[in-house]
Amino acid sequence: MSTVAERLNDIQQQINEACRRAGRSPEEVTIVAVTKSVGPERAREVINAGIRELGENRNEGLDQKHSAIGSDARWHFIGSLQSRKVRDIIGRIDFLHSLDRGSLAKEIQKRAEQPVDCFVQVNVSGEASKSGVAPEATADFIRMLGAYDKIRIVGLMTMAPNTDDEEVIRRTFRGLRELRDEISSLGLPNAPCTELSMGMSNDFGIAVEEGATFVRIGTAIVGYESGERS
Ligand SMILES: *Cc1c(COP(=O)(O)O)cnc(C)c1O
Repeated sequence: MSTVAERLNDIQQQINEACRRAGRSPEEVTIVAVTKSVGPERAREVINAGIRELGENRNEGLDQKHSAIGSDARWHFIGSLQSRKVRDIIGRIDFLHSLDRGSLAKEIQKRAEQPVDCFVQVNVSGEASKSGVAPEATADFIRMLGAYDKIRIVGLMTMAPNTDDEEVIRRTFRGLRELRDEISSLGLPNAPCTELSMGMSNDFGIAVEEGATFVRIGTAIVGYESGERS
C-alpha cells in the first residue's frame, strides 16, 4: 500500500507529462484533493503532503473536515447543492463547483456576505443522469447571474461520461474548453470565466491535455477507508 504522499507524487508526474504533451505549464493545473470518502486524519495527510485544496460534496463531510483543518486548506464544494443547505456551507467554502440553476444562485445571493467564486456546472455530454446547465444555455445563464453581486463566475465545470472510450471523454472536455473560451471572450464583468474544473481519478490526464486548470481527484490520492465507499 502506497502512502498519500507517494500517490500524490505519481499524480503530479502524470500531470507534468500531460502538460508536456499539450505544451502547457504544470503551474496552470491545481490539484483539488477530494476527501469525501475519508475522514479528517486522511485529509490531514493530504495537507501534510503539500496540497492546500480540499474538495467535499456534502455538508456533513465539509463540517467534519473543516472543523479539523480549517484555514490550512481552501475548501471546494463539488457536489450538487440543495438550496436549503446554502446557509450551512456558504461561509466555509472558497469555491463552489456546482452552480447549475437560478434558484441556487438566488439563495447564494441572499446568504453570502462576500462574493463567492463559482463554477457553472455544464452537462456537456448531455446524459440524462448528469446535472448541469445545457451548453447552449450556459451563456444566457451566466448573463442572468450578472444581477447577483455575490456570485463571481470563475470558470466552468463538467464531469465526463463513465466510459473507457477516450474519445468520448476527450470530446466532453474539449467541449467545455470551447464553451469557456466563448464565454470568457464576452468580457462579462461578473464572469472572468478563465478556469476549467474537469478531470477525476480516471480521466485527469485527458482533462489536463484538454486544458483543465482544476482537477478534482479523490480515490487516486486518498484511496478508500473501510466502510466509507461513496
Ligand atoms: C467524487 C468526485 C470526484 C472525485 O472522484 P474520484 O473518482 O474519486 O477521483 C470529482 N468530482 C466530483 C464532482 C465528485 O463527486
